[in-house]
Amino acid sequence: MGESAPPPGLKLMDSEEFREHAHRMVDFVADYYRHIEKFPVRSQVSPGYLNDLIPAFAPQDPESFDDILADVSNIIIPGLTHWQSPSFFSYYPANSSTAGILAEILISGFNTVNFSWIASPAATELEIIVVNWLGKLLELPDSFLSGSSGNGKGGGVIQGSATEGMLVTLCAARSRAISKHTANGLVEEDVVRRLRAYTSDQTHMCLHKACKIAGIKLVVLPTTKETNYALSPALLRGAIEEGGDDVIPLYLGATLGTTSSAAVDPLLELGEIAQEYEMWFHVDAAYGGSACICPEYRHFLDGIEKADSLNVGTHKWLLTNLDCSVLWVKNARTLTSTLSVQSEYLRNKASEAGEVVDFKDWQVSLGKRFRALKLWLVMRLYGSSKLKNYIIHHTCLARLFERKVTEDKRFEILVPCRFGLVCFRLKAIEASSVNALNENLLHAVNSNETTFITHTVLSGDFLLRMAVGGTLTEAKHVIKAWETIQKKATQLLSSK
Ligand code: PLP
Repeated sequence: MGESAPPPGLKLMDSEEFREHAHRMVDFVADYYRHIEKFPVRSQVSPGYLNDLIPAFAPQDPESFDDILADVSNIIIPGLTHWQSPSFFSYYPANSSTAGILAEILISGFNTVNFSWIASPAATELEIIVVNWLGKLLELPDSFLSGSSGNGKGGGVIQGSATEGMLVTLCAARSRAISKHTANGLVEEDVVRRLRAYTSDQTHMCLHKACKIAGIKLVVLPTTKETNYALSPALLRGAIEEGGDDVIPLYLGATLGTTSSAAVDPLLELGEIAQEYEMWFHVDAAYGGSACICPEYRHFLDGIEKADSLNVGTHKWLLTNLDCSVLWVKNARTLTSTLSVQSEYLRNKASEAGEVVDFKDWQVSLGKRFRALKLWLVMRLYGSSKLKNYIIHHTCLARLFERKVTEDKRFEILVPCRFGLVCFRLKAIEASSVNALNENLLHAVNSNETTFITHTVLSGDFLLRMAVGGTLTEAKHVIKAWETIQKKATQLLSSK
């Protein structure tokens, strides 16, 4: 067979066509934000709605950009829950910002795969620098910061999520414990069977997931109203002691700002216990950590010097579009010795000389996005003083909402308002029906499309959660949400 000429290139990246489409896409996104308040905050579609609107097979021939944009408007946007709506008060915020979006354009524009320093030195070096910037803003002890080339003992890394941060630290703790106990003559299977992680019933489910993956038994300790749903050090100590010689305490997961009610565990006392039993102490500050850049909230981090690791989800409340979750560890070698794998095709002089950090050894995946650009643009375009004001703005709005709730005698607040979160409920004439009443109120509020809140259950009490923290949220949105809640409450109570 004679050699045939290769087919012509596909010309998939024509820079003029890209420029034209990108400008239109930026206009599209800018208009989306301009009109965001016109959409129902929570999508009103039924499950499976897209099946009737999108063909079952991928198109064989290229389709037009105009048609695609029209479909985004007509069939995708109706299926969106508008997390960036200023009236989105559910779960926790997932901030978007101009800086974050612009950085995302750069990140996917470069599309570098930054597993090791040599794969893109700027990505690794910028990550080390900006993560140190944030660590200094949080006034973390120097032991968590990287040396100038990142080869100090401690250091930070940007993970895709808090969950990944927990998983890698749990695996590091597990490896450390296995090495120690097998060196003392125990069999590995026996060590793993005896290992225990400890946490409270308020900890995010991501620790449950990490334990499931790592095969570690998790001891979940109950919290009560007496501690405002923080983990009690006495209870922790009791649980460890109760395990006796048959268990090996491995990992303590504390939270600074729980998902349910923004409770803060007492880091100093818990950290002392963790040190006493030689457990890895991880602090999950996925939500509350961002507030600690403000002097008013920094005290919540007191005791962090006792921790082995800490994560702060800048993709929640610090304007850095999903995904960007910073993890600091005090001893990076515990991570790298657990997660490092080598391959001939990855070998290079800089790595072998130990002159550089290869972030593939600090995370689960090999490939790594250039997320540091996002944090860098956020910090540079806004500056730390504006970022601090941004947080304080939300905490003031949450206080405003809390005041409104306390002024209306039909409502009550059962746990302290922390950061941007207010947990509250409608009082009932008959105590037995109070949960049902509040569940009905939640449905009534969310059915009205102009606001979206969620709930939690604490000590059996069904509470509504108002999480203030949207990039575009102003006082008028908080007041409007409160008026909707009041109106729905009046309707519900009058129908009784
Ligand atoms: N930890 C806390 C306290 C959270 O509130 C959340 C999510 O809301 C998580 C962890 C999980 O975060 P991620 O989605 O980054 O894994």
